[in-house]
Amino acid sequence: MRELIQQAVPNVSGREAQNLMECIRSGYVSSVGPFVTEFEQRVAAAAGVEHGVATNSGTTGLHLALVAAGVCRDDIVIIPSFTFIATANAVSHCCAVPWLIDIDESSWTLSVSMLEKCLACETEKRNGHWVHTATGRRVAAIMPVHTLGSPADMGPISDLARTYGLPVVADAAAALGATYRGEKLGPFSELTVFSFNGNKTITAGGGGIVTGRDSELLALARHLSTTARVGDEYHHDRVGFNYRMTNLQAAVGCAQMERLDEFVSSKRRIAARYNDSLGQLPCIGTFPAPTWSNSACWLSGIVIQDPHRIDPNSLRSRLRERGISARQFWKPVHLQPPYRDVPRAVLPVSESIWQRIVILPCSTDLSVEQQDYVVETVTDLINRV
Ligand SMILES: *Cc1c(COP(=O)(O)O)cnc(C)c1O
Repeated sequence: MRELIQQAVPNVSGREAQNLMECIRSGYVSSVGPFVTEFEQRVAAAAGVEHGVATNSGTTGLHLALVAAGVCRDDIVIIPSFTFIATANAVSHCCAVPWLIDIDESSWTLSVSMLEKCLACETEKRNGHWVHTATGRRVAAIMPVHTLGSPADMGPISDLARTYGLPVVADAAAALGATYRGEKLGPFSELTVFSFNGNKTITAGGGGIVTGRDSELLALARHLSTTARVGDEYHHDRVGFNYRMTNLQAAVGCAQMERLDEFVSSKRRIAARYNDSLGQLPCIGTFPAPTWSNSACWLSGIVIQDPHRIDPNSLRSRLRERGISARQFWKPVHLQPPYRDVPRAVLPVSESIWQRIVILPCSTDLSVEQQDYVVETVTDLINRV
């Protein structure tokens, strides 16, 4: 039996070990150290902005960003239901609730038309704030997600945010290297958060970076991430967090950043080969590629167009029997027990994509032979039904 071809494993064959040894030799193993600063600068540059604040995970980065953006207890924050649960959890960590909106079939990102309709028909202005009419909660932010590394339609989302006076906090967890209308992602929202978890294209073992166009909010995020300490005398002016990334994590992250272009190119090449070879099979669709974006192609795979003809679950399990990791993807937030009762729009697209998606192996070091084997196996299984 052949070894399982994994979905997305870290590629740490560069300078990672050397950088880690440097941390040990210098004694800088904790949350102060030259690699942390270098990592923040490198990621900010890759996002097209000046500043970045390193955190110990993408989730804590999202939480920090929401607090910095002014999200408070009892507020409501707009997110797409088709996302990793961390997006919703970051809202809950602020003691606020998510308002779940559907994604567009053509992009798998936050539906702009639904966002517009929800803001127009389900909110009203009270005491200078836009309030979700049904619950009386203050609408505090819009949180688009750059699904699978593919940017949301930030132009119209920003326009709506401006109209309603709302900050945009983008969950760009897996989108480092992507562009929106040819530009890097950082400038398109007040705050933009990346993750460096082990399954992302660039990993720091774990970690996050909060970046974005608003330097004041970034300074506040930095302050809050280090227990809101003022000076060296154990004075703290707010309830802060201990969310800083360690120099060890950043040492790995810096080594990875040297290879960002290479890794993103590999991801795109893998996605293109699946699209070319599997996209024409009967009943098989490819992941969307909206005109506004150049995706970082974090994960690739296929989507079953007619699940009554080809059962996605049985396709996934047959692939696994043949040594190929083939996974379902994010179960939408509204189907998760902690979020069954939060405000939400109708969410047919989120549910339908979730049921029909098949993620295929796409590690940056996936060999041509391995991918050929995946393509042949999928083709064989599809042609048999
Ligand atoms: C990975 C991911 C996160 C969480 O990042 P962690 O570093 O694992 O905490 C949040 N949102 C999305 C969309 C992700 O893909």
